[in-house]
Amino acid sequence: MHYIVVDLEWNQPLNHQNRVYREVGDRLIFEMIQIGAVKLDSERRVIDSISVLIHPSCYLRIHPRIQRMTHLGPDELADAPLFNEAMERFMAWCRQEGDDFLFLTWGSDDVSVLQQNLDFFDCHPDMPPLCDIQHQFSDAFKLKNRMGLQPAMELMEIRPEEGRDFHNALHDAYYTALVWQKVPDIANTAEYARQPKQLIHPDVNHGRVKGEAFDSLRLAMDSETARQPKCPTCGRPCEVEEAGYVPQAADKYIGLAKCRQHGNILVRLRLRASQSGRVILAVSTAKATPPNIAYIHTKQLQIRQREERGLRVDPEQALLNAERSSVPFED
Ligand SMILES: [Zn+2]
Repeated sequence: MHYIVVDLEWNQPLNHQNRVYREVGDRLIFEMIQIGAVKLDSERRVIDSISVLIHPSCYLRIHPRIQRMTHLGPDELADAPLFNEAMERFMAWCRQEGDDFLFLTWGSDDVSVLQQNLDFFDCHPDMPPLCDIQHQFSDAFKLKNRMGLQPAMELMEIRPEEGRDFHNALHDAYYTALVWQKVPDIANTAEYARQPKQLIHPDVNHGRVKGEAFDSLRLAMDSETARQPKCPTCGRPCEVEEAGYVPQAADKYIGLAKCRQHGNILVRLRLRASQSGRVILAVSTAKATPPNIAYIHTKQLQIRQREERGLRVDPEQALLNAERSSVPFED
């Protein structure tokens, strides 16, 4: 028996109005661009690793936010194989030590994204289910909440390594493997096998949404609801600026979108973690004033500068720990 820790990176459409998205968006919300994996033997020693890049077939332009995070862009993906060939290479690597292995992944997002890509590309490799070792980790250490990978590393006193940035599927898989090595008893791992959830596009009503549940903060922030809020005046979907949302508190984000007819729209996101571990997202929109715009642009710049200095908090964890903040939106 061996173990394969898997992590994925994926791209998303730049614009939800574009032709490709309108054609395939209900079947492919996120398109995989990298599979990273680390192989462990039965004693949980790291014995091999692989990174398979995937040339996108649908969303050919890499979203600037994704490119900034993953450092994967057109140059890196230019010579990469298409999805089906990439999966074939990956599965061949998985089987080098035989067919008896378990797939492990941190959380359940990757399970659903992988399944959607497999379905979309009509690819049906014979593979075991993915086990959610984030859940196993919380149970093993009796944690109340699910922990992000970085806080879990801190808790286990695992330091990030030089040249291994987060948000690279290979590095994240490697760190996940190091965290999993600390789980005292792994006899129950197969019990954490996860069924993929269907990734859907909720239909958003005019202006305001009461609240909609997602499996993680990341999926909530990448959802059509968050990326494409509706203009408060005409109800048409508007695209959020590429620089994205800025946090005001762990459970509150604001950003700007533009309606072709009605100009700048201020978008407010309110999030909360539900009892069952899901993330509830509510969106409201209003006409943006010049001070709103100046404020958001300043914040975006500050965030970029902080990211460049390597300082970042785990927003997923911050949300779990957040008391509902009572401060009003500062805009
Ligand atoms: Zn409008």
